[in-house]
Amino acid sequence: MSQTHFKMLIGGQQVDALSGRTYASQNPATGEAWAILPDADAADADRAVRAAHDAFRSPAWRGLTATARGKLLRRLGDLVAQHGEKLAELETRDNGKLIRETRGQLAYLPEFFHYAGGLADKLEGSTLPIDKADMFAFTVPEPLGVVAAIIPWNSPLYLTAIKLAPALAAGNTIVVKPSEHASASILRFAALAREAGFPDGVVNVVTGFGAGAGTALTSHPLVRRVAFTGGPSTARHVIRATADNFAKLSLELGGKSANIVFDDADLEGAVNGAVAGVYAASGQSCVAGSRLLVQAGIYDRFVAALKERMARIAIGDPLDPASDMGPMATEQQLGIVESMVERAREQGAQVLAGGQRPAGRAGWFYEPTLIAAETPTLDIVQNEVFGPVAAIMRFETEAEALELANGTEYALAAGIWTRDMARGHRFARDVHAGIVWVNTYRAVSAMAPIGGYGASGYGREGGIHAVLDYTELKTVWVNLSEQPMGDPFVMR
Ligand code: NAP
Repeated sequence: MSQTHFKMLIGGQQVDALSGRTYASQNPATGEAWAILPDADAADADRAVRAAHDAFRSPAWRGLTATARGKLLRRLGDLVAQHGEKLAELETRDNGKLIRETRGQLAYLPEFFHYAGGLADKLEGSTLPIDKADMFAFTVPEPLGVVAAIIPWNSPLYLTAIKLAPALAAGNTIVVKPSEHASASILRFAALAREAGFPDGVVNVVTGFGAGAGTALTSHPLVRRVAFTGGPSTARHVIRATADNFAKLSLELGGKSANIVFDDADLEGAVNGAVAGVYAASGQSCVAGSRLLVQAGIYDRFVAALKERMARIAIGDPLDPASDMGPMATEQQLGIVESMVERAREQGAQVLAGGQRPAGRAGWFYEPTLIAAETPTLDIVQNEVFGPVAAIMRFETEAEALELANGTEYALAAGIWTRDMARGHRFARDVHAGIVWVNTYRAVSAMAPIGGYGASGYGREGGIHAVLDYTELKTVWVNLSEQPMGDPFVMR
């Protein structure tokens, strides 16, 4: 099979790694190497950060009005829309995500650029009603400088857009490091940023491995803001790295999100919500509803209906629009899923459906899996699988459901299925989660913040506040009196 060679984008140039080293990326549906990518190290990361730093200070970028920045972002959104089909195919080939999902994401992605572009010239400071005579004080939101964005493999372009669009709207420059397993679509996207007219160095992409390029970027002295999406153990490295440069940090980490079904829920809707939560995207979603909590009165009917729906999930080539579920993105991830299901069996949990690789398939596929786990302390209930595996538990009362829902160290998302809206609101108020969906699941919008608490991280992406999060407020004081400043040993 022929292989495609990709280059990085640094300072407006398409370049190889300084060392000349490369690595291969595999197609998860076949296991075959299909792309050759530059294996960047600390020297390449340094080159990219310096290019972004120079661009940040250049008149070509600093001299642009906020309105002009907004126009560039909107043009980029239009280019993404124009090239959406190609980008979706590229991403599916690289990370095995279903073409229906990548097409859907790409169809929506321009909204992130249009929304952030619209906000670029609406970032206002304020005049302060200051309590000092003869003083005038005001605030100005300022860009921070170079942003390092670290992206995982599950939704590369979506997770890049949700960082890059607000970062550029606020006037920063950026260096993106994709996962070594899913870089191709981001490199093609970077070429579109050039085409849109962003000055050289405003958008840079460095491919390679986390330990080398990732560490060098997140600890670089010229980086002022790190936006990280990935797992909690990598996040700990990133937190330590930013101790070196004091960069502002946001962490979008994993979850063990509860999808809670009450007796009065619409059964078909709740079953579809459960499938959408944990089997769509083969469960490789940070918000996967991987803990199903089901009220006793509906439990047996729910399990039967869910198993029937799961049996109709078509596992297949992610490039085939008829497929419902594709492979795991990496062989290592498949191994993690298998070992976590094995561990659940050893700990006494009962596999109700799935629990193995589908027979007769090359590639890194795993069946949609449902595990009855009546003990909340089991590993399968507490730890993120990042695969198509749901642990299902029964509860009697709303109070018990809340205790179970809040019973992990994660707090990213929750789904609530009920016709009783007072209960829906009550539960939404009390559940520990950064995102709560009532009678729906996995809804996203450029206007809606996402993010979690605890082991799910901190900071929010999406919405107006995300743009402000890429700024810092400057306070300016002006002495209006005609008198020269007096006694230097007292505070004004
Ligand atoms: P990961 O292993 O934590 O990797 C994430 C990124 O960090 C990759 O680009 C990785 O590079 C890089 N990296 C690794 N070590 C690093 C280091 N020492 N310093 C800096 N960067 C480093 O996560 P993943 O396996 O790719 O993705 C799965 C995780 O992401 C799951 O836990 C999932 O829940 C989470 N996630 C969260 C959200 C959200 O919005 N909350 C969304 C999607 C995914 P290499 O892989 O190339 O080495």
